[in-house]
Amino acid sequence: MADARVNALMEKIVSLCKRRGFIYQSSEIYGGIGGFWDYGPLGAELKRNVKDLWWRTLVHEREDVAGLEATIIMAPQIWKASGHVDTFSDPMVDCKTCQGRFRADQLDDIPCPQRPSKMVSQCEGEKTEARPFNLMFETNVGPLKDAASVAYLRPETAQAIFVQFKNVLETSRQRVPFGIAQIGKAFRNEVTPRNFTFRSREFEQMELEFFIRPDEVIEAICGRVATVAEGSWQGEPQPDWGWEVWHKYWVEQRLRFYESIGLPRATLKEYWQAPEELAHYARATVDILFTFPFSKRDARGELIGEELEGIAARSDFDLSQHQRFSGKAMTVFDEELKAAWAKLEPGRQTELARRYAEARQQYLTRMAATPEEAEQAAAQARADAEALAKGSYVPHVIEPSAGVDRLILALITHAYAEDEAPDDKGKLEKRVVMRFHPRIAPVKVAVFPLLKNRPELVAKAREVRDLLRPLMTVFYDDAGAIGRRYRRQDEAGTPFGITIDFDTLGEKGPELKDTVTLRDRDSMKQERIPIHELPARLLSQVR
Ligand code: ATP
Repeated sequence: MADARVNALMEKIVSLCKRRGFIYQSSEIYGGIGGFWDYGPLGAELKRNVKDLWWRTLVHEREDVAGLEATIIMAPQIWKASGHVDTFSDPMVDCKTCQGRFRADQLDDIPCPQRPSKMVSQCEGEKTEARPFNLMFETNVGPLKDAASVAYLRPETAQAIFVQFKNVLETSRQRVPFGIAQIGKAFRNEVTPRNFTFRSREFEQMELEFFIRPDEVIEAICGRVATVAEGSWQGEPQPDWGWEVWHKYWVEQRLRFYESIGLPRATLKEYWQAPEELAHYARATVDILFTFPFSKRDARGELIGEELEGIAARSDFDLSQHQRFSGKAMTVFDEELKAAWAKLEPGRQTELARRYAEARQQYLTRMAATPEEAEQAAAQARADAEALAKGSYVPHVIEPSAGVDRLILALITHAYAEDEAPDDKGKLEKRVVMRFHPRIAPVKVAVFPLLKNRPELVAKAREVRDLLRPLMTVFYDDAGAIGRRYRRQDEAGTPFGITIDFDTLGEKGPELKDTVTLRDRDSMKQERIPIHELPARLLSQVR
């Protein structure tokens, strides 16, 4: 029963998305292509608004983050260094009876293609053993199709940030701690794309790599490392923050961002991965979860959310990997560290160098590709600790990594509402309304002349449209009864509607001349407001 209701709700949302031009199936006239989706006029605006706000919040409104826009196809060695060539795979199972291919960990959730009333796991068809299936899309660069020309469509945007780290550091005049942000396409050949756009094969990510000093460096400079319990992560960044406080700070910043675009905290959950779930290089990872209509329940009946974003403390793993594979130093020189180190007591120097060398050795031993490399790990780690004493180290990183399309789907499902509104004769009728936060709404304001066959009304309405157009997205609509026009904008999620009527022309008295009615989408309340006040009034809410 619950499932039927959920399906019905998702069906309504999917059909509204198509009907109103938020999201269409890619290549629809050819029957579509699994896992690929296009954004229509309203969807494209919505997506652009979300990406612009992410960029504005991180890059423009902060001094410690710089932007990057890298290519989708990069040197294939990058994916060797990152581990994607060897380990970026899902377990896949084939059904010998129906020839279907499924993710081994989803057999309980995917309907059998031959008997849709049953899940794949409940059907008798003979299945193969699970085997790894690499999710990267392969292509060839240049005219020859051979092993040497193989390249990949990037499965994440993050690696480009790591490999351009040194260039950005030098050209942006930043110093650690600082971040590099990038928005762009990523591709994963998901075995079973599903749940509308939630798991797609082509999608966009918004990723920040925030580079920080290793804790030993903080201790050398500040004498101590702040703890999460002290609570400073809620405020402005401080010099004594180590990875733990920075990580907590970024979780908080990201939650505040979601709130600012209309996903209240109550709709989000923080899921702190247990130690056994963490990737070997990660010190902590928090997933920000949102409950979609298709989210499952756990054994206690509680809805489990789905991941919108992962925020990981990744140590110095990524830069160290690229340092090893490229042979290019990924270290920074930190003047403050050099000066502070020289003033440390010898015992303290030894202690910090020992801890630093230990962590480096652990990493180098684990990632050694040959026995020789493993043998050299201890000596290399000692050399790294000596370099630290001279002010040089590989920065650590905190990575907030979000998916744009999943966020758009969360915003759409959260905004979708049904209620009642009066029609033109005052009779209540059902209305579908997308309650987008004004900051992300695709169209900010609709302008309606009361009647389209009255040139004075039309001229005034066009004047209002032209006044607002340079400031925000405006939709001009003169077709049909005013109630119908409101309804259309409610479905598009337009937060404000302006009607130009005979009062605007001053026909009922001079005091109302050049005033309009401003209608609020959610409360449906209307107020009279002078035209010249519109820009400031609307801008304060849509920016
Ligand atoms: P999942 O476990 O759901 O496959 P993930 O942990 O592999 O996701 P990450 O590699 O951490 O995802 O990618 C960061 C973000 O990119 C995710 O939080 C998600 O928002 C987005 N993302 C990842 N894979 C997809 C996909 N196939 N379709 C849409 N968005 C995706």
